[in-house]
Amino acid sequence: MSSKVTLEKLVSLCRRRGFLFQSSEIYGGLNGFWDYGPMGVLLKRNVKEAWWQDMVAGHNELTVPAGAPSAYEMTGLDCTIIMHPQVWKCSGHYDLFHDYMVDCRETKKRYRYDQIRGRWAAYQGERVFVTTMAESPEEALEDTQRRALKYFKLRNKDADEVEWEAEFRPLPEVSDLSVVIGPDTTTPGTLTEPREFNLMFKTYVGALGGEESAAFLRPETAQGIFVNFKNVLDSTRVRIPFGIAQIGKSFRNEITPRYYTFRSREFEQMEIEFFCHPESSQAWYRYWRDRRLQWYVDLGLAGERLRLREHGPEELSHYSTGTADIEYAFPFLDEGEWGELEGIAHRGDFDLRSHMEGKLDPKTNPLEVELDEHGKPKWRGSGKDLSYRDPVTGERYIPHVIEPSAGADRATLAFLCEAYDEDEAPDEKGKPQVRTVLRFHPRIAPIKVAVFPLVKKDGMPEVAQRIYTTLRPHWSAFYDEKGAVGRRYRRQDEVGTPFCITVDGQTLQDGTVTIRDRDSLEQVRVHENELVAYLSERLAAPQQR
Ligand code: ATP
Repeated sequence: MSSKVTLEKLVSLCRRRGFLFQSSEIYGGLNGFWDYGPMGVLLKRNVKEAWWQDMVAGHNELTVPAGAPSAYEMTGLDCTIIMHPQVWKCSGHYDLFHDYMVDCRETKKRYRYDQIRGRWAAYQGERVFVTTMAESPEEALEDTQRRALKYFKLRNKDADEVEWEAEFRPLPEVSDLSVVIGPDTTTPGTLTEPREFNLMFKTYVGALGGEESAAFLRPETAQGIFVNFKNVLDSTRVRIPFGIAQIGKSFRNEITPRYYTFRSREFEQMEIEFFCHPESSQAWYRYWRDRRLQWYVDLGLAGERLRLREHGPEELSHYSTGTADIEYAFPFLDEGEWGELEGIAHRGDFDLRSHMEGKLDPKTNPLEVELDEHGKPKWRGSGKDLSYRDPVTGERYIPHVIEPSAGADRATLAFLCEAYDEDEAPDEKGKPQVRTVLRFHPRIAPIKVAVFPLVKKDGMPEVAQRIYTTLRPHWSAFYDEKGAVGRRYRRQDEVGTPFCITVDGQTLQDGTVTIRDRDSLEQVRVHENELVAYLSERLAAPQQR
């Protein structure tokens, strides 16, 4: 990733070139919801298709992939967003899927407790903790300073009289909220004590609308896989070890959606539940953790901004014997901060057992089912036998599960950040100009090749259109004849098109065209008849940086 990328520049480029728009923009937008424009939809589809192709469709169950304990099968699923409410009771989401929020009594604004941060400021013996929700470090400094001065009734020129603690700290580190100045006020003590807030969106099924018909939009796609485990086993010939993959929308009523699409309220997940024998589950965990990291590397996220972080024992859920996050140092985060792209968790038999036997309370006593006043399990499971019988050995067991759970929008955002670059390229008159370019890996680039006639006359458009028509069945191609050719190149650089083909005077004589490489800016001449072969090779080759 170029050090030149900032969130502001990226947002502006994405809007200008049709990657991302705010949802319902003409009505003022809706916080936490984003629409993918013509370029964005191609980019995100390519990310999802690369995942599906690499994890599912292109997987060969006859061979043992490098690092895997054995060969295995992969299959897909596409289940509903709204499911039986019992699913969420047994999964634990109904009781436990919450964040802490605080309200501001003055502004009536609501914040996620752990996302508020601030710094201590002291003046004439009074010490206050000034908080902010600003997303960039510079804005956070400026915002806290401005409001502290206002509170202490000081002018800008007297700013040095305030003593600041250099470090920003998360609000949960401050025990006394009466000295805290909320993110949008200049008065201390307006924030309420933190309260739990369930992140699931609630809706009502059917016309009645009472609590009996309450249901939830899924906050993850994974549970749909667990509840279909038996269906998949009974309707296919898959045998353990095997994985079920699903791509689909998930919804979380995030208290403070932020950082563009990084934390939104409607997003897409790409999840696998991999079912294996308990004894080989650790080896499978390591396999999936490494394989998933390599996937991002192969698509261009290599480098020091990508890392794998194993959770320490204190971070692990009681049922997990291993969890790792794949993280990316997004440019909008503070220095040293990382954002999660994907979590890979060893979930043991927790989920299948919960859906079988009833809700297990992972917080209190994980193995004890909560009982109601009649001594019956409070949230009953399905009662269905979700165990597995090995057809060869006859052994019956509840499979263990490895769950690689990725976010399609976060991956797309990381690829956008990593691809962003600015360099110098000559304009039409040969003068060096700053050029913005998205250096996408060819597999995810929204458009693979653009075709231009140099000028809109002398039969050049006809030849260019013929070439475009030939290439179109092979790749997402783009035809453009409007404006100066230099400007057409720039537009393609800004959407990350790896190759531009130009039909010029020489084409009309010898049938060759120029192919310009987005990254090296080199131009080579290739005969029209050899274009498909040439591009096939170049688009499949590893990215040149
Ligand atoms: P975070 O801690 O950032 O809220 P999480 O640990 O709750 O994430 P998971 O429940 O593990 O996330 O979800 C799996 C993946 O789904 C995440 O790694 C992320 O890529 C994606 N994801 C989760 N929440 C959101 C969101 N609000 N917006 C966009 N993507 C999300």
